[in-house]
Amino acid sequence: MSADDAQPAPAREVTEKESRQVAEASRETQWKHPSFLREMFLGRFRLDLIHPYPLMGEERPEFTAFFEGFKRLIAEEVDPLEIDLSGEYPPKVVDGLRRLGAFGMKIPKEYGGLGFSNREYQKVMQYLGSVDGSLSALLSAHQSIGVPQPLKLFGTKELKEKYLPRCAKGEISAFALTEMDVGSDPARLETTARKQEDGSWILDGVKLWCTNGTIAGLLVVMAKDPDTNRISAFVVETAWPGVKVEQRCHFMGLRAIANGIISFTDVAVPAENLIGQEGRGLKIALTTLNDGRLSIPNGSLGTAKMCVEICRKWGSQRVQWGAPVAQHEAIAHKIADMAATTFAMESITGLATAMADLGNVDIRLEAAAAKEWSSTNTWRIIDETMQVRGGRGYETELSLRDRGEEPIGVERMMRDYRINTIFEGSSEIMHLLMAREAVDKHLQVAGALIDPEAGVGQRTTALLKSGLFYLGWYPTRWLGWGRWPRYSTFGSLAPHLRFVDRMTRKLSRQVFHGMTLYRARMEKKQAFLFRLVDVANELFAIAASVSRARAMVAAGAADAARAIELADLAARNGRRRVAHLFRDLWHNDDVLKYRQGVKVAKGEHAWLEEGAIGLPVWPPLEGAPVVVGESTESPESVRAGVA
Ligand SMILES: Cc1cc2nc3c(=O)[nH]c(=O)nc-3n(C[C@H](O)[C@H](O)[C@H](O)COP(=O)(O)OP(=O)(O)OC[C@H]3O[C@@H](n4cnc5c(N)ncnc54)[C@H](O)[C@@H]3O)c2cc1C
Repeated sequence: MSADDAQPAPAREVTEKESRQVAEASRETQWKHPSFLREMFLGRFRLDLIHPYPLMGEERPEFTAFFEGFKRLIAEEVDPLEIDLSGEYPPKVVDGLRRLGAFGMKIPKEYGGLGFSNREYQKVMQYLGSVDGSLSALLSAHQSIGVPQPLKLFGTKELKEKYLPRCAKGEISAFALTEMDVGSDPARLETTARKQEDGSWILDGVKLWCTNGTIAGLLVVMAKDPDTNRISAFVVETAWPGVKVEQRCHFMGLRAIANGIISFTDVAVPAENLIGQEGRGLKIALTTLNDGRLSIPNGSLGTAKMCVEICRKWGSQRVQWGAPVAQHEAIAHKIADMAATTFAMESITGLATAMADLGNVDIRLEAAAAKEWSSTNTWRIIDETMQVRGGRGYETELSLRDRGEEPIGVERMMRDYRINTIFEGSSEIMHLLMAREAVDKHLQVAGALIDPEAGVGQRTTALLKSGLFYLGWYPTRWLGWGRWPRYSTFGSLAPHLRFVDRMTRKLSRQVFHGMTLYRARMEKKQAFLFRLVDVANELFAIAASVSRARAMVAAGAADAARAIELADLAARNGRRRVAHLFRDLWHNDDVLKYRQGVKVAKGEHAWLEEGAIGLPVWPPLEGAPVVVGESTESPESVRAGVA
């Protein structure tokens, strides 16, 4: 493969409708268990689903022994600066992780793994999030989305017996969905899996940005059967003929991440390596990600906690204008918000993670909310941490160390962290996923009324069905008691729960009003929908924070009084954001902004770009130098090098 091939090739035209159909087909439509957020979108504040808050109890001795060993390995062998500078995982660290069994944390014991619960596994991921982003990616790509998780959930006994012990021993795995033309939209998938007469498959295609791909022995590959157009998931061994690492990719941060482009040429895949049912690949990927994506909020929490410590120490040490900077109001406010947000993050993340272990609640929305809310807020926290550290925040650790200052790597943290709002479901895709579920019940009862393709019969049935449903549902979304003395056992935090109670009903009304006003256009009203999702996420964060603080009081926790202070601030901040979001729902410049955005994208405002150097023409003109890494090479030599 050449560098030219690596450029997005003109792909098969896929319409927006097709993309939506593929997304819709891969949705889990059943709600076997209750979901706090789904109920919220319907106007029901189900405090019973999050209260009493499941505080983490005593650790199991088995887990403690592992965790102590893990922390020892980190302390003795891991130097994040060295990992960042070398851009490689030190072999002794990877071997150490293997020895500890860290590649099999979530694999059941019967298959040679450690059999940890989600909470135990995520406690490790949280810790790692405070240490090094590249190492987090190594373990998370392997365990949260790589071979172990989908096999555990959907693999046959034979497939589990064949691969899980290998994964547990430390054979690294990866997940390959993304392609040059497939980012958030799997409908454009081009990798093919052609079914043979004996039931086996032949795989062809190229996968982009496969984390761990350059060092993996095993891959989960998503590919489309060209005859049926359906996507399936397969376990593929990288040692098989036809599997090739084409390029190692490099990024702004996560310098050691073993990420690459993998090609498949006539790769023979045995029938038994199909994961789950044929044609269910995307559903499997989505279900895997339900608890798989919890690694991101848990890792984010580790990062946020580090930021709080950095700001606490620097804010009190650094004296400017006659006082420690943390005592100047602008900085004190930043630090206060950071601590309150971190408390709220720990509350929603801990809750979603605990729910994943319970099994009697549906966490698809809570996991998406935890991922979106935590990654967006952690990015802000890192940004504020850089501000609090001033110039030292922007300076590299190496430079700080060379002149004798404490090497605090906010700059590295920022580079490493940024990807978290993009991968494992970007923030926009998390919003879309949640928005789809926010309107689900309404589509179920009244979908045919707004579907231009629905027949007269379907519309009439929908009219009757929706009439019956809304007659009972809508008026009761105005009724309810969200005022004193409700929730008085929550003491000073009770007003925040009463607010959540009232706003939950308001949220559901706004969802309904949006549906009635925008009808079929609703799915295009992303700004409107995203605000509704943000309201739900904020209410979730407030309720989880209050519930957790209350549980700490009930458990007699030493820090309970301080937890109440942070929960109170987190709730106050959240309430202000909710008020803004509700106001902006109907008072905004959405239409104007959309028009201008499209105009800019079409080049109608290209005049504005005059005065800047402009992007280079790509591909470069023959013979013109191309900067690659630190060397300047001709396009020919670049292509030859990549091929
Ligand atoms: C370091 C790194 C590691 C990765 N690891 C893996 C891996 O292990 N396996 C794997 O398969 N992939 C991996 N990826 C790919 C990653 O999951 C994708 O980058 C991600 O899914 C987004 O796809 P994209 O970058 O092509 O963005 P696009 O899908 O092209 O989107 C561009 C922008 O538009 C937004 N957008 C897209 N569609 C919509 C819409 N309908 N409405 C509103 N906004 C929209 C997106 O949110 C994004 O902001 C990795 C990527 C990176 C950079």
